[in-house]
Amino acid sequence: MEYRDLKAQYKKLKPEMDSAISEIIENSNYISGRQVGELEEQLAAFIGAKHCISCGNGTDALMIALMAWGIGEGDAVFVPDFTFFSTGEAPAVLGAVPIFLDVDPATFNMSIPALECAVKRVIKDGKLKPKVVIPVDLFGLPAEHEAIRSIAEKYGMAVLEDGAQGFGGNINGKRACSFGDISTTSFFPAKPLGCYGDGGAIFTDDDETSGLLRSICVHGKGTSRYDNVRLGMNSRLDTLQAAILKVKLKAFAEYELNAVNEVAAMYDAKLKGKVITPKIPSQYYSSWAQYTIRLKNKIQRDNLQKKLKENGIPSMIYYIKPMHAQKAFKKLAYYDEDYPETIKLCDTVLSLPMHPYLDEKTVDVICSLIEII
Ligand SMILES: *Cc1c(COP(=O)(O)O)cnc(C)c1O
Repeated sequence: MEYRDLKAQYKKLKPEMDSAISEIIENSNYISGRQVGELEEQLAAFIGAKHCISCGNGTDALMIALMAWGIGEGDAVFVPDFTFFSTGEAPAVLGAVPIFLDVDPATFNMSIPALECAVKRVIKDGKLKPKVVIPVDLFGLPAEHEAIRSIAEKYGMAVLEDGAQGFGGNINGKRACSFGDISTTSFFPAKPLGCYGDGGAIFTDDDETSGLLRSICVHGKGTSRYDNVRLGMNSRLDTLQAAILKVKLKAFAEYELNAVNEVAAMYDAKLKGKVITPKIPSQYYSSWAQYTIRLKNKIQRDNLQKKLKENGIPSMIYYIKPMHAQKAFKKLAYYDEDYPETIKLCDTVLSLPMHPYLDEKTVDVICSLIEII
């Protein structure tokens, strides 16, 4: 059994995919080909954002956004403690201080009280300026963007939505990757919309910011690639990946997003009363980057993972270690006492096989092995 069955997807898309890929190879237009611009337009339309700028991966996307705002030394950037490393890595690489926040265990997303409390503490300490908050749409569920926006406005901070896992989710019809002043996503193969390698995209409604982001993606270009007006990066989406994503975006919008929500409903029904299933608040829609259950304690969780493995069923622990406890952030000296919910989640979560091509029989087999009350 596959954790995320990319082979089943390819089988279904094969004729279209093969012709899209061979067209690029025949034309040999590997960088900045026509398909890149076409994909950007389609992505912007799907999200409901004015501009889409594609780039090399989701980590670059975060870095480029922070660079566009000139984030660096002396700045505080607020990041959930329960996320993939990139969210904290990007501000730290630029010299800013990531301030980690505990999460709401029911949604796995940034805790709103923790955010306001941390901002107040930073202001009181007076050493750093609160500049940016990076909400993550973890496991496909959008963060509490309305509440985050109002705190950001209150303290004069920008919002950078990390939608690497959120692509396809929405709140009341407003799509993930449209909530930030800048929003980013990743096309890593295992994300809700993945390519056949690395890829990423940045979204914004602001014309000036859009131009800045595009310049930073290509060595800080001015009027041409050989006119360099600022320092930037080399971060582009290959034409091949853009062509692949065009085929995948169509399938994603037409049926995959629906299908993966149907799989989630099957899991919910079959696991009800056995373990804690993911909570999707009303008006929220998830793109199910992960289907993550919670057990009572670490022993139960580890035993269940072992049992699944013995039966040939892959499962993952996202995430085994909180951000504040990563060795890379050791010198920032965070305290475990500030992160009770994240620490508990790291010990009790388990993510089950999840993708749009999972059938009910397979879900039955997985759920029949989960018997803990
Ligand atoms: C995957 C991921 C990223 C980074 O994306 P890459 O394309 O792998 O660089 C950033 N943030 C979150 C929350 C992610 O899950």
